[in-house]
Amino acid sequence: MKKRVLAMVLAAAMGTAMLAGCGSSSDDTAADAASTAASETEEAAETATSEAEAEDGETAETSIEKIVFATNPEFPPFEFITTDGVIGEYDGIDMAIAAEIGERTGVEVEMQSMEFDSLLVALQNGQIDATIAGMTVTDERAKTVDFTTAYYTATQVMIVAEDSDIASAADMEGKVISVVQGYTGETVVQDLGYEYQAFKKGTECIMELLNGKCDVVVIDSATAEKYLEDNSGLKIVEDEEAFGAEEYAMAVAKGNTELLDLLNNAIEEMLSDGTISELSAKYIDGE
Ligand code: GLN
Repeated sequence: MKKRVLAMVLAAAMGTAMLAGCGSSSDDTAADAASTAASETEEAAETATSEAEAEDGETAETSIEKIVFATNPEFPPFEFITTDGVIGEYDGIDMAIAAEIGERTGVEVEMQSMEFDSLLVALQNGQIDATIAGMTVTDERAKTVDFTTAYYTATQVMIVAEDSDIASAADMEGKVISVVQGYTGETVVQDLGYEYQAFKKGTECIMELLNGKCDVVVIDSATAEKYLEDNSGLKIVEDEEAFGAEEYAMAVAKGNTELLDLLNNAIEEMLSDGTISELSAKYIDGE
């Protein structure tokens, strides 16, 4: 972050020097003016940074040397395993975002794999620094961890056989429903008051459906689209009234404001400069 600020300051100083250079007969004078303006502004910028840090009592962002992230790589297009991923064998929208955070902040990024259910416990135990796992912000989860700024909006959908008569969430009544344990899909089905069977992985739910052992799978929208690309004979049924919007965010241990601020700055930058939409388009539509 600091480097970027300085680069912008330098560019501004060069601009000033170029203007100064216009009225000058000597190129050397312009160059001198450029370097003087640049170093003066650079000093000013550094002072401004340390003053700002002193004011709100933050430690410098650079004191974080490494972020140990964890994910559950069973959630395409956000995280999955490939032979040649963006962070080792890990690939997907979240993995590319994590790699980009490393690039932008100059902080080393490590990725660990664990069960989705274990992610928040691992954060609380201090085993990992942050989660990046297509994780929906919920009030329940926010009691135990701190969420970053949200970076993606999704919803739950139903995956059914192409010839299914299920057309709304209410039609799931009396049907065999599969969800992934610990996903928000499980929570919404619970809240609707239906019985269901829970599996460890989304792919297991899809196998049940393909084998005719269940009637419907409730899961996140983008992941459902991916499963449909890979399996024929299925369709997606949406019900906006029953399934509200969900926001994906990263999580850190409660009170870890230094890391939270670093992640939020990077996320907000990637949201406004279009990086996150580009990455989503790349992994979702293959653009
Ligand atoms: N968005 C869902 C949740 O938070 C599923 C996330 C995931 O499987 N990675 O529960």
